[in-house]
Amino acid sequence: MSGELLLEETLIKRSQQKKRTSPLNYKERLFVLTRSRLTYYDGRAEKKFKRGSIELSRIRCAEIVKNGGGIIPCQNKYPFQVVYETNILYVFAPSHNSRSLWVQSLKEEIKDNNGVLTKFHPQFWQEGAWLCCRQAEKLAPGCEEYNLFGDISRKPLPPIPGEEPRNNCRRPPPPVPPTGDDDDDYDEDDDDDDDEEVVVALYDFPGAESHDLSLVKGEEYIILEKCDVNWYKACNQYGEEGYIPSNYVTEKKSGNLVQFVWYSKQVNRNKAEELLRKEDKEGAFIVRDSSTAGTYTVSLYTKSAAGEGGAAIKHYHIKQTQGSPQQFYLAEKHLFNSIPDLIEYHKHNAAGLVARLRYPVGKQDKSAPSTAGFSYDKWEINPSELTFMKELGSGQFGLVRLGKWRAQHKVAIKAIKEGAMYEEDFLEEAKVMMKLSHPKLVQLYGVCSQQKPIYIVTEFMEHGCLLNFLRQQRGSFSLGSLLSISLDVSEGMQHLEANSFIHRDLAARNCLVNDSLVVKVSDFGMARYVLDDQYTSSSGVKFPVKWSPPEVFNFCKYSSKSDVWSFGVLMWEVFTEGRMPFEQNQNHEVVTLVTKGHRLYRPKMATAAIYDIMQLCWHERPDERPSFSQLCLMISDALEGDTPPPN
Ligand code: ADP
Repeated sequence: MSGELLLEETLIKRSQQKKRTSPLNYKERLFVLTRSRLTYYDGRAEKKFKRGSIELSRIRCAEIVKNGGGIIPCQNKYPFQVVYETNILYVFAPSHNSRSLWVQSLKEEIKDNNGVLTKFHPQFWQEGAWLCCRQAEKLAPGCEEYNLFGDISRKPLPPIPGEEPRNNCRRPPPPVPPTGDDDDDYDEDDDDDDDEEVVVALYDFPGAESHDLSLVKGEEYIILEKCDVNWYKACNQYGEEGYIPSNYVTEKKSGNLVQFVWYSKQVNRNKAEELLRKEDKEGAFIVRDSSTAGTYTVSLYTKSAAGEGGAAIKHYHIKQTQGSPQQFYLAEKHLFNSIPDLIEYHKHNAAGLVARLRYPVGKQDKSAPSTAGFSYDKWEINPSELTFMKELGSGQFGLVRLGKWRAQHKVAIKAIKEGAMYEEDFLEEAKVMMKLSHPKLVQLYGVCSQQKPIYIVTEFMEHGCLLNFLRQQRGSFSLGSLLSISLDVSEGMQHLEANSFIHRDLAARNCLVNDSLVVKVSDFGMARYVLDDQYTSSSGVKFPVKWSPPEVFNFCKYSSKSDVWSFGVLMWEVFTEGRMPFEQNQNHEVVTLVTKGHRLYRPKMATAAIYDIMQLCWHERPDERPSFSQLCLMISDALEGDTPPPN
């Protein structure tokens, strides 16, 4: 019965940091709990993918980890710990329920173990100290009673019967006879050799503060610590240490194409064609993800396509051979061990392609992305470092101006007019918002909070708000470009959804467009800080009724699913190129119409499949609406379907 499967789920595991200097990392692992062992795998539950295993009889404590408000630098936000002998495994579950299930199941299985702790540490061991009690010794006695029978995430616990006070553990764990190599407790992920993560800089980073480390594009760095999702502590080849933005580097390892200039991850067929045409160079090419996950396509531009009257774009799937070693090819006769080898060869030999791969397009002239704040842990901006340029517009909170930070970095500066905002609440939340960093979200850089009016400093978006952009360019949009806009917004929203952050006022007027025509979501969560009844009360004239689902205009019940409804309306705005939804109706009429089941009509430019996506967003029941991740997939599919398949 020992092999009986009790639980199986993909969770995230933190490296065990056995050496103080080794950097922390977080890896997705398939965890499998049986009656005898807790085992984790890299992908599939097969021996060759096994990365670690712990015999249950050695476990001394399984409990949730109280996070104490710290940032969890991975997607899963529900940590728990498994203490075995002198080691601690930190595992991150995707939900409260999943974590409860794992902790309770483990507790059930270890309840008769000899070495179970009487006291444990409720918070993380990090950077050489316990966050709960600040003791700097990893083996220091626990600081909170351990209850093997309760669930501390739900209720306080009764004392353990028969507990021996002052004694840290009941008995040391008994020596366990070796059970053969394969079954010993081990953690391959934590092998010291494996731990050194080397990254390559994708962009220059000048380093804003003295504690930052400057990055030079193309150079290598060692990651010392992942402080949060946005900032890492790193070391350069000269041994200098400092903070770097995580989105400026990519892991240096074979198989990671991001380190190459010719690879553009986020580019779909439509965008690839747009970029290649813009470049208009013989042999211009992009390697991008195919619509089939895990496969790649080379999009290649030629100015002299025979019989096609000039320029043409060809899309070639990079094919893979079956069996091992796996090889790659574009043209049958030329097999390569890796994609970079294949690209290198075809740079010099067309060998069946319409041209040789002469000019990589896309990344080299791409400007560096925004960082989550100008430096690690910096959210207060010194107003004397800001200079003001022109006015950009004005909104609910006041005037927005274009400016520069430290005379070179263009920013948008919002001066909050008196009485327009719950400033204290916002300033508290701003720290969280700054950590929301994504290529499809307008980045909050920081605030000037020590003055009146306070300033909010954000990423500057050259083309202003999406609604005006749609209206001004009306008639010039292709179906592909309208889908691309929708995809940008759904990707930004997917990031908010993944972080359990609700926008509450998603609409085309709250999205902005930059000079590369990328659309980003702005003003997320800001509705909570508006001091204006006309905007915040659902009967107020400024309340966005036309973007709201019934549960919001009736009960103010906001959720990521209410954002999904608004997203459907935003898609409608996009496909009507900026029309006002329910143009002929007043807000109170819209409430009646929508309650009766009436919905916005199909815009002329929306195909039946696209209108289907909008209608899914407008399902009366929130849980029947798709998630933003599902929406991203649906819209990407529609985009791929919009252009002919590759050769
Ligand atoms: P509020 O949040 O006070 O309602 P908005 O965010 O709507 O203000 O901004 C008002 C206008 O200012 C927008 O419609 C847009 O034209 C301009 N604007 C705001 N933020 C930016 C930005 N980051 N980049 C460029 N223009 C901006």
